[in-house]
Amino acid sequence: MKKIIGFLLVSVFILSIVACSKKKTEEEEVLYVGTNAEFPPFEYLLENDIVGFDVDLVSEIALLIGKKIEFKNIAFDGLLPALQAKKIDIIIAGMTATEERKQFVNFSDKYYVSKQAILVAADNTTIVTFDSLPGKSVGVVLGYTGDIAVSALSDVDIKRYNGTSEAVLALKANKIDAVVVDSEPAKNYSAQNPEIKMLVSDLIEEEYAIALRKDETELLDQINIALQTLKDNGTYDELVIKHFK
Ligand code: GLN
Repeated sequence: MKKIIGFLLVSVFILSIVACSKKKTEEEEVLYVGTNAEFPPFEYLLENDIVGFDVDLVSEIALLIGKKIEFKNIAFDGLLPALQAKKIDIIIAGMTATEERKQFVNFSDKYYVSKQAILVAADNTTIVTFDSLPGKSVGVVLGYTGDIAVSALSDVDIKRYNGTSEAVLALKANKIDAVVVDSEPAKNYSAQNPEIKMLVSDLIEEEYAIALRKDETELLDQINIALQTLKDNGTYDELVIKHFK
């Protein structure tokens, strides 16, 4: 009898250790992904869900590297500080791998090549390229690469907004003459708002990549290998077809 009780006690003890350690690894496996769900078709809200190309891509990457993911929706200019403060582990947010950002974070290999585009009222004939912007009032989103590009021009009356939709609203209300944003979201906004149109600028291309803390080199390698696998096995192309018609 004593032996049986002893055996049971030992079993319960072992089982509880197994259960605890399982819980711990499950917790450790969660990768907190920071994004700003205001950048269609890369990330946007559908009902209350964050969806889009970046969401699908990072979900496929997580599957390949065996991690669960949880998204945190944060203002774009709060993403890098949240990464440094370890509130999130990676950022996928249509974020351009700029030289300035590279001083603070590591970027994965590029996963998308983009450009800056100009949005104007559908009947606007005076603005045709970036060269037409001096003398005009131009909306950008604070801290975006569009802000950097327009800030480099002289004589532009720059209006900075907290989000793309806010800038587009100002354009629709004729408060500004143009908005400069990344080409894919610009395409999306112009398709949904017939009163505005998109001009593709001649600005140089920029590359979107996933941002990580500098010390997360192992995770960086895993993400790059996963990205390459998704490009090689056709998943990446399927996602492009799904999100960019
Ligand atoms: N690609 C732009 C940037 O990195 C905009 C990104 C975004 O709005 N999500 O600044």
